[in-house]
Amino acid sequence: MIKGIGASAGVAIGRAMVMPSWEWNLPDRMVDVGELAYEFEKLFDGIQTSKLELETIKQDISELIGEEESKIFNAHLAILEDPVFIEEVQEIMQRQYKAAEVAVKETMEKFIGMFDLLDDDYMKERAADIRDVGNRLLKHLLGDFQHTLPTQDEPYILVAKELTPSHWANLDPNQVLGVATMLGGLHSHAAIMARAMGIPLVLGLEGKLKKAVQNGDLIILDGEEGSFHLNPDEATVEKYRQRKQSLLLQEQVLQKLVDLPAVSLDGQTVGLKANISSVKELEQALQAGAEGVGLFRTEFLYMDRGSLPPEEEQFEVYRQAAQMLGEKPLVIRTLDIGGDKNINYISLPDEDNPFLGYRAIRISLDRHELFKAQLRAILRASHYGNVKIMYPFISSLQEFREANRLLEQVKRELDEKGVPFNRQIETGIMIEVPAAAMIADCLAAEADFFSIGTNDLVQYVLAVDRMNEQIAHLYDPFHPAVIRLIKQTVEAAQKHGIAVSVCGEMAGDARVLPFWLALKIKELSMSVKTLLPLKQKLLNSRSAEGEDLLAKLAQCGSSEEIQLRLEEYHITDRLVTSSNNQNLADTDADADADDSNFSGGE
Ligand code: PEP
Ligand code: MG
Repeated sequence: MIKGIGASAGVAIGRAMVMPSWEWNLPDRMVDVGELAYEFEKLFDGIQTSKLELETIKQDISELIGEEESKIFNAHLAILEDPVFIEEVQEIMQRQYKAAEVAVKETMEKFIGMFDLLDDDYMKERAADIRDVGNRLLKHLLGDFQHTLPTQDEPYILVAKELTPSHWANLDPNQVLGVATMLGGLHSHAAIMARAMGIPLVLGLEGKLKKAVQNGDLIILDGEEGSFHLNPDEATVEKYRQRKQSLLLQEQVLQKLVDLPAVSLDGQTVGLKANISSVKELEQALQAGAEGVGLFRTEFLYMDRGSLPPEEEQFEVYRQAAQMLGEKPLVIRTLDIGGDKNINYISLPDEDNPFLGYRAIRISLDRHELFKAQLRAILRASHYGNVKIMYPFISSLQEFREANRLLEQVKRELDEKGVPFNRQIETGIMIEVPAAAMIADCLAAEADFFSIGTNDLVQYVLAVDRMNEQIAHLYDPFHPAVIRLIKQTVEAAQKHGIAVSVCGEMAGDARVLPFWLALKIKELSMSVKTLLPLKQKLLNSRSAEGEDLLAKLAQCGSSEEIQLRLEEYHITDRLVTSSNNQNLADTDADADADDSNFSGGE
């Protein structure tokens, strides 16, 4: 057994599929003389398709962002037309009988290596351009990501070096039983997506495998334990089959809670809402009894494509979501790219600290056309349901005001065209930067609502990169500094009479629930998979003596003390486990949601 980090719960048993990738393990494929002509044809088709794609992107960027920004793609186009680059590829193919993708990869590496050696920033940028263009070309030679993952008769376990959020956006949960990656952080967007999709994920296997995984190897992974088994014996397979079965039974128990009102034993109601990134996820959320959407991560509409989604396409998605929800709220978060979420057709600068850099609202306020197109789509959709707008990564009052100023402009433009929308649409702020939490009182005076984004808040308060598995143990939501800042934010919102919810992974963490109840939080928005386990915990919790708990937490100087105090306050006197509200405490103690936590039980 190999111990990795459990990042998305569930057991998967199946055959391995090793993700083909130029950066990792691209097989050194040779071809016969007779196949060379076909390989050349493939190469030239790939170059042609890449060029057409780049032209379209350039055009879109020029229209939506500006002509100057679109020029970056001239450099990319030039590489595809550079005789030195192309001749090198051809020579490798002709002389060494290597397949087109192998020759492209080797040429890329040679040129990147040459430019990287030069101590010149301009040349280093050229190396980045070659990497970017080379990747685009390889994508076309290998087929896009979906096609490089062959549809197999049997679903499989995907083994990869690392998966980006756009890879995840492309995975088919019916084909992929589970995922194991060498790198990746527990709190990365990739891990959040795995949990949302219900795909078991074990990460952090780098350096722990004694031999490379081959396609077809038998694999077991347990996303709660964080265990990974390569070609296990029959007894181990049987053990995990049984574990899988018992997890299934637990899920059936939870299903019975769907229609129960989400209320504590002593009558405190909490609106349990879902975090989604697609309409498909919304369907699952509604099936799990979500009372609305507290966070629509719209950036996934922008991923895994060659150019910006047109306003019309965005509008259709938002409208559909709003209509599916009816009167239930749909909080749409504006584009939150940067950090670990990149979009290859929007040229973001290479940054030393992308999480502290050009991301989210900073990009939106810099690229007005991009932002306004999204605002138009959201406003138009607001005519069809209970839509609210939320701005990510706000760190000052000025940013919030500027975002709203642009929103007002868009409203006027729509008015001029007679397009209907909700004039009173609410605008809220994600509190995920410590600065915003510290001036929560000032922000609350102007915002309609707050939603606390604990994923980023924890990373910024503690200066711990949420992507880095090496320091994952320092990423601690129970740190007193985090708890204090959250309390301060909630109190500021309550003082100003505005709604405050939580939408980071802490919202769905059953261990934190006594804190939310004590703070009188009325809304929690979480990954779809945690909705029912958290509801079960809520149905079995009491909120009385919250003041006392808050006073005790305020005295705690360490995470351990905080966790202890929260455990003491998890008062359960019966286990509600079915829609009949029966007392089943003595028959099904296993079904208690205590184990469900966002860390996947690492
Ligand atoms: C957060 O930061 O808590 C959040 C919900 O946003 P994201 O995870 O998408 O950064
Ligand atoms: Mg965030």
